Amino acid sequence: MKTHQERMARKKAVVDEKIAKATEERGVVILLKGNGKGKSSSAFGTMARSVGHGKRCAVIQFIKGRTETGEYKLFKDHPQIDWHVMGHGFTWETQDKEKDIEAAQKAWQIAEKLLQDASYDLLVFDEMSYMFKYHYLDVAPVIEALKNRPKDQSVMITGRAMPEALEEAADTISSIRDERHAFRLGVKAQAGIEF
Ligand code: ATP
Ligand code: MG
Repeated sequence: MKTHQERMARKKAVVDEKIAKATEERGVVILLKGNGKGKSSSAFGTMARSVGHGKRCAVIQFIKGRTETGEYKLFKDHPQIDWHVMGHGFTWETQDKEKDIEAAQKAWQIAEKLLQDASYDLLVFDEMSYMFKYHYLDVAPVIEALKNRPKDQSVMITGRAMPEALEEAADTISSIRDERHAFRLGVKAQAGIEF
């Protein structure tokens, strides 16, 4: 039987080989999808990581909830972060489709500019997937802009279901599975956990 030390040495060799092969330096497109909890918070956690390294970031919140989130309160005035909230504030209750489309397009105009600006290292497009789901935005121009963005710029997009074409354009896709949620146990949404 192999000793623990032998197994670890083998493992290290395999990992070292993979590290040696990953030599490309460029920004990445990351999709955070699925029905489980943790997509937006993962994106903002990554943004905190970037900010810690002195990088410049921007957020576009494509869907505005009823309450201000903790990350908005923490980050909105940060000198390295620009935070945009979609104008009209699409919510689940909106009845005004025309206004929603107008707001989505305005948000996309901002996104397009950010995707041409190499001074931004990381962009977060939170809940953008819903814009495609409801046909408020076309996916083709988004993919085009992602492809033409500055080489070192990274983009994170969150939302429950991603269009297939967007997945094809992504470098990293994480799907968060909903195994259990406190909400279904009857626990009320709370500040600092849900928002
Ligand atoms: P978070 O912002 O906590 O990372 P998320 O971005 O993955 O969550 P969204 O679909 O954007 O999830 O929903 C945001 C809100 O809905 C949060 O309050 C979150 O706790 C709650 N939520 C997320 N997943 C579920 C679920 N499976 N059941 C019930 N509530 C959920
Ligand atoms: Mg979210």
